[in-house]
Amino acid sequence: MLVLGIESSCDETGVAIYDTDKGLIAHTLYTQVELHAQYGGVVPELASRDHIRKLTPLILQTLEEANIERTELDGIAYTAGPGLIGALLAGSSVARSLAYALKIPAVGVHHMEGHLLAPMLEDNQPDFPFICLLVSGGHSMLIRVDGIGEYKLLGDTLDDAAGEAFDKTAKLLELGYPGGPNVSNLALKGNAERYKFPRPMVDRPGLDMSFSGLKTYTLNTWQAAIKEDDASEQTKADICRAFELAVADTLTIKCKRALEQENLNRLVVAGGVSANREIRSKLDALMKKRKGEVFYPRLEFCTDNGAMIAYAGAQRLLAGQSNDLNFAATPRWSLEELPKI
Ligand code: ATP
Ligand code: MG
Ligand code: FE
Repeated sequence: MLVLGIESSCDETGVAIYDTDKGLIAHTLYTQVELHAQYGGVVPELASRDHIRKLTPLILQTLEEANIERTELDGIAYTAGPGLIGALLAGSSVARSLAYALKIPAVGVHHMEGHLLAPMLEDNQPDFPFICLLVSGGHSMLIRVDGIGEYKLLGDTLDDAAGEAFDKTAKLLELGYPGGPNVSNLALKGNAERYKFPRPMVDRPGLDMSFSGLKTYTLNTWQAAIKEDDASEQTKADICRAFELAVADTLTIKCKRALEQENLNRLVVAGGVSANREIRSKLDALMKKRKGEVFYPRLEFCTDNGAMIAYAGAQRLLAGQSNDLNFAATPRWSLEELPKI
């Protein structure tokens, strides 16, 4: 089965073609990062317009790279939510119209299910059940996964998502948008001994997380440095290092707790923040010590992309699931509502 996947939930237009026999055969991505960088964050109206501009050319380019005709497609998968409503509608209306014209089924995919299943695009796929740490720009969740569509939310963030904390920290330190990669790169030059940031919520039971306190801690540390006339690049790097270590430690402690609670030893980490080196290295060490397994998407599939949507949609289409024309976009949508396949 040949499935075209379309992602447009935020500021990335992603298109891919997944073959359920051969795997991923083509994928293209257009990022709007430069467009939004001047505003320090995503401007929804500009995002929708840019998706409209880029969707058709990207679909044509992807078909060409895959060397297939549109009439060969068996189904279309598009991100139906959660995300920015205008951006979602841009992708879903293109997807629905194309499916209607080609007389093939279309399925609305949950963006976070796409992220969660992204490691399945690699050769070494995790078996079910596993614990998934899903950390992105808008979410920080720990989920027990027993199969596709069998998701139990074990923990969530009480305030900012992990990626959001990276982005806000970057903004405070004037490192540009999006913040994750910039904070992480500067942290490489930082001295880990200089500042010690708190590990939020680790002394409390449970699996919920909170990251907004770290942002305040960053702000206070940076303002103190400015007062002491020490607002140097090195100070920024030292703050980035302390911040990143605090996030990585916190996530590692929560993952360990989730694995113990559910009596599992298989961990999947996905979403934009799963690209972070420090977090990967701490989680690798945890799973090595536990003699368990850990899986990540390849770096380019940690952040938004069409491949993960094509994969997740293909699994649902294969199982006979599709949506009728009324199903357009769902800006708020819980993973736990999804049907099993
Ligand atoms: P959601 O998936 O929750 O709707 P999103 O689609 O905006 O949100 P993603 O595309 O999954 O989020 O990831 C983007 C986020 O990942 C940004 O917050 C970005 O700063 C963060 N990020 C990307 N690379 C890194 C990195 N190396 N280290 C830390 N954070 C990173
Ligand atoms: Mg993005
Ligand atoms: Fe995302």
